[in-house]
Amino acid sequence: MLVCYTKHELRQALTELRVHGSVGLVPTMGYLHEGHMALVARARAENKVVAVSIFVNPTQFGANEDLSTYPRDSERDLQILRDAGVDVVFTPTAGEVYLLDADTHVETGYLSRVLIGRIRPKHFRGVATVVTKLFNIFQPDRAYFGCKDYQQLTVINKMVADLDIPVEVIGIPTVREADGLALSSRNVRLTSKNRAAAPVLCQSLDRAEVLVAGGGATVHSVKKEILDLLAGMPSGVVESVDIRDAGTLAPMRGRIASAAVVLLAVRFESVLLIDQRVVTPSNNR
Ligand code: AMP
Repeated sequence: MLVCYTKHELRQALTELRVHGSVGLVPTMGYLHEGHMALVARARAENKVVAVSIFVNPTQFGANEDLSTYPRDSERDLQILRDAGVDVVFTPTAGEVYLLDADTHVETGYLSRVLIGRIRPKHFRGVATVVTKLFNIFQPDRAYFGCKDYQQLTVINKMVADLDIPVEVIGIPTVREADGLALSSRNVRLTSKNRAAAPVLCQSLDRAEVLVAGGGATVHSVKKEILDLLAGMPSGVVESVDIRDAGTLAPMRGRIASAAVVLLAVRFESVLLIDQRVVTPSNNR
């Protein structure tokens, strides 16, 4: 496995590797877990060359967010990727990625302002910009993202379509702990009390899925059930409960008659956990 620290090294490595066939890219912020590795496994199955980036992107963190405390373990990450048969890893510093006088950004409009975009105003601009840069640096055929970060996946799909970026974006289902908690690098920062409370996010999504599948559920009734379930948490503050059109993230009203996405954000002290589920009515009664 080649480990590259500069764009120049990476471009050279990929020029040689690309002759073997398609390149699949998995962008990550490191501190790898089984969720990331599901993306890597899919990339390995679908491409001749698997490339992974490990970069905690400062521009997607707000001033009071957890950039400085974001968990990192580079040696462990590299060993995990080696064991998974990854071909090339890019693990740059922020100074390597961004020019000091950078003055260009990529931003989706509506999709970046709603939901998590309201809680984290510059977040999706940082994500869209760094993903564009990674696409330009790696020039992959395919790129793999988790459905757990549903809004992020929607932003990237829209950006790729709007800007004619020649990369196939593939969404991978969320990998969970046995009790339903979505795997996340941030989970290690949950106190034991908060860790015990956290599976309620997944339980709320399970309930929403059942309600919507039964037909006749309304946005209001599903939200109310979720809020009631979340109100029983011994800790945690509900930041948002949203039900939106699964394709456009436009707000929905009244009866849920088409595919919707339920998006939850709950803060456990300094750790913001998010989770999502696409729910579909099985009939239109
Ligand atoms: P991160 O390192 O948190 O930026 O995540 C890198 C990629 O892995 C993103 O596309 C995430 O959506 C994806 N990812 C994170 N957690 C999971 C999970 N539990 N299951 C599947 N994909 C995940």
